[in-house]
Amino acid sequence: MLSLCKQNLSSSFQRIGARCIASVVPEIKVNDTGVSNEPILQYLKGSKERTELETALKDSYAQTEDVPIVIGDKEYQTKDVRYQVMPHDHKKKLAKFYYADKNLLQKAIETASTAQKKWDSVPIPERLKIWEKAANMMANEYRAKLNAATILGQGKTIIQAEIDAAAELIDFFRLNAYFLKEAIKYQPISENPMVTKNSMRYRGIDGFIAAVSPFNFTAIGGNLAYTPALMGNAVLWKPSDTALLSNWLIFKICREAGVPPGVVNFVPADGPVFGDTITASPHLAGINFTGSVPTFTRLWRQVGENISIYKNFPRLIGECGGKNYHFVHPSADIQTVINGTIRSAFEYCGQKCSACSRMYVPESLWPKIKEGLITKRNQLKVGDPTDATNFTSAVIDDKAFKRIKGYIEHAKNSSDLQILAGGKCDDSVGYFVEPTIVETKNPKDKIMVEEIFGPVLTIYVYKDDKLKDTLDMVGSTTSFALTGAIFAQDEAFLRRAVEELKMTAGNFYVNDKSTGSVVGQQPFGGARLSGTNDKAGGPHYILRWGNPQSIKETFVPLTDVEYPYMK
Ligand code: NAD
Repeated sequence: MLSLCKQNLSSSFQRIGARCIASVVPEIKVNDTGVSNEPILQYLKGSKERTELETALKDSYAQTEDVPIVIGDKEYQTKDVRYQVMPHDHKKKLAKFYYADKNLLQKAIETASTAQKKWDSVPIPERLKIWEKAANMMANEYRAKLNAATILGQGKTIIQAEIDAAAELIDFFRLNAYFLKEAIKYQPISENPMVTKNSMRYRGIDGFIAAVSPFNFTAIGGNLAYTPALMGNAVLWKPSDTALLSNWLIFKICREAGVPPGVVNFVPADGPVFGDTITASPHLAGINFTGSVPTFTRLWRQVGENISIYKNFPRLIGECGGKNYHFVHPSADIQTVINGTIRSAFEYCGQKCSACSRMYVPESLWPKIKEGLITKRNQLKVGDPTDATNFTSAVIDDKAFKRIKGYIEHAKNSSDLQILAGGKCDDSVGYFVEPTIVETKNPKDKIMVEEIFGPVLTIYVYKDDKLKDTLDMVGSTTSFALTGAIFAQDEAFLRRAVEELKMTAGNFYVNDKSTGSVVGQQPFGGARLSGTNDKAGGPHYILRWGNPQSIKETFVPLTDVEYPYMK
């Protein structure tokens, strides 16, 4: 025994008293490969990806997919039947699905809370392999299907779907796996490992995480549900009714890749019924939310009211709305301003949380910028998203249509506002709203303050000598601080604006549009009422879902109570 002990007196075997014992904390070995972003395919006519996508679009269009509720390994259909329709042609039902009621949600909570314990003991390298497999499946055999579901179901054009449902989703899976690998490399100091060894292990949180996702990014649904799961948590995923089909595909891919039953439970439900049920459960360990401010505020309030019932203090992550700005300085490059603004304001009908919806332009540049914006806007084709010549399509549903139309009516009726281009709305076939450009004389009109979440861009023209006052308005006009962009060639101004506008955006752009963040390149999230700014797509996000445990192991006997100086 003693000779064995001598041979092995390395970091894994230490002596305690007469015995030699091994560290009981296993070391985690993971493959140390680098990571890069998924390339965005081009979909040129006749290309392999274009042909595959066309087939997937036809297949998806030809059916109304029946999507069950899934809790553990069981599928459920309730009497509360719903349909996901195509935004650009709302008579076509793309998916049939069912709302989970309180009892089923309760069952999902019990299933997840039980599954969490088992899942948490699956070694991290095994979980990483499942994530890598899922990412590869999304990048290859399921790419066209995911894109087709996003195009038909959420009204994205081919390129917008590719950026979201393929590239960003795959990036979330690969990069979060990479960030987890990096995070667990940190181990605390062990001054003399022969005497004591300190280690840190990364657990999930006991209980369940509620992932509540929005309609506008397929990738966000995947991230909200599966990043907590990667960390060892179990999840109730409530997808958005209007992103049902693409989210269902993600769920199926992950099951096929090896995520065990019960780790993520797919529970479409009425929003308030879901919110009320999860916040009333003592097992609620966290909420991973992306959506509007009123919904997140309601959930936070409910958690506050119920705080004494929970086993853990629930983690609350919420990424919410924005009133994103483009601020133009007299030294700006006009073409960059025009093209960047058209893309930011009107791609995906302004339904990106980062879309530019208010703009500040100096009087000296206004005639050229105005002409450029109107000319470019008039060239945009709006229609069926499967037609590659269309720049944008319909807004998501009747609720969005009514809300956006309301702001356009307000612009038509207000003496401070003038519609420069667009302004027509037609929901007879699909929920179509024209890309609309408005000029305001009042920089504090509600159209400059509230999130519209549609293709409406409002511009306030400021006098060149009122630069300071206008800059001050950027942060004081709204309670949001999601994204913002400044356009200037004057370096002194850029330096000043970077400081003065510091608190007005979680994602800030210099001579670039306010949209288009890429996982791992521009970690995303806003402050103030735009959210908790936990930066999805960055290295710290995964850690927010962890419940780390510090362990100190001692290998020498404790021989006394008194300290030497006392003798
Ligand atoms: P929403 O708030 O209406 O819905 C979001 C989700 O919450 C949906 O799944 C919905 O069914 C659910 N929900 C509604 N009421 C609920 C309740 N009481 N309890 C629990 N869940 C409830 O938002 P939306 O229209 O789907 O998405 C658009 C919003 O999302 C915009 O404000 C946009 O800016 C924001 N968004 C933000 C980011 C970001 O990263 N900051 C990204 C995408 C979208």
